[in-house]
Amino acid sequence: MTMGLIRSVLRKASPKRFKGVVKESKSWHFVCKTCGYKKSVYDSGGIRYKAKPNKVALGRCPVCKKFRWFKIIKKNKKQIF
Ligand SMILES: [Zn+2]
Repeated sequence: MTMGLIRSVLRKASPKRFKGVVKESKSWHFVCKTCGYKKSVYDSGGIRYKAKPNKVALGRCPVCKKFRWFKIIKKNKKQIF
């Protein structure tokens, strides 16, 4: 099952909930541990809902042009990093 499929299933099954998931996903960001490059989880095609912060993921960084460790952080309005 792809993330895109999960999204469309969610959207159809529960539009109201999907809005919440999108909102939640947009507040999550991947941050490259090496260069600080940031990318929203949602824009990366993923969804993250009710997850815990401070996890790490391995991914390809477009700035480093290499596989890097990414921190997964939740960005709040109050939080500036
Ligand atoms: Zn990087």
